[in-house]
Amino acid sequence: MKPSGKSLPPAARKQASSRADKEPFDIDMALARVRESIRGFADAAMFDLAARGHASLFEQLVGCILSIRTRDEVTLPVALRLLSQARTPEAMRHLGPERIDALIRPVTFHEPKAGTIHTIATRAVEEFGGELPCDAQVLQTFKGVGPKCAHLALGIACGQARISVDIHVHRVTNRWGYVRTRTPEQTLAALEAVLPQAHWVELNRLLVPFGKHVCTGTQPKCSTCPVLSMCQQVGVRNPR
Ligand code: SF4
Repeated sequence: MKPSGKSLPPAARKQASSRADKEPFDIDMALARVRESIRGFADAAMFDLAARGHASLFEQLVGCILSIRTRDEVTLPVALRLLSQARTPEAMRHLGPERIDALIRPVTFHEPKAGTIHTIATRAVEEFGGELPCDAQVLQTFKGVGPKCAHLALGIACGQARISVDIHVHRVTNRWGYVRTRTPEQTLAALEAVLPQAHWVELNRLLVPFGKHVCTGTQPKCSTCPVLSMCQQVGVRNPR
């Protein structure tokens, strides 16, 4: 039977026994507190892009490819500049890889990303009648598109229940003790087993700004964190 999400997953139960001072972990309460704590911070880039009217599957996938190893502060203006020139596969195909490259130059690995985006646009036109299908397997046949981008785009653009695990989601859920995994791929599988589906798409939206501003990679702000009372702080050595 699928866990309710209110109880601590088995992987974390052992850890909890060594932190008897902590309240039982309640995922609904934790996410409610995170939701409140990130008010005022910039939205995660792909959700921001959608709010600005670029919510199609193609636009979301292009935005996520641009975001790989690139800060949100760089990704968003570049995505808006590219999509202002071409927001459909047909228009992007006509733009050509050189022009795409010139438009996305500030992002990391702009040249291969330009080639990837042009190839996706071309395949969308030639194989799928000009519109990408809401199909995770198809999206992951595109070079450079893994579960993180495919799931995020499908969650936002197609309304599918999908979890997108980036470095923030992986780090924070492990520190909570909600999962105990070594890689984002393992975290995806573990979260799919324990996280209530109602939170699947929103998890990335909440934990990206939370991971950037509160539960940071080094020196997380534990002393003022709203989740401290139930967080196992797994692997945290130098909190602020
Ligand atoms: S208590 Fe510390 S480790 Fe736990 S979520 Fe908050 S900042 Fe992260």
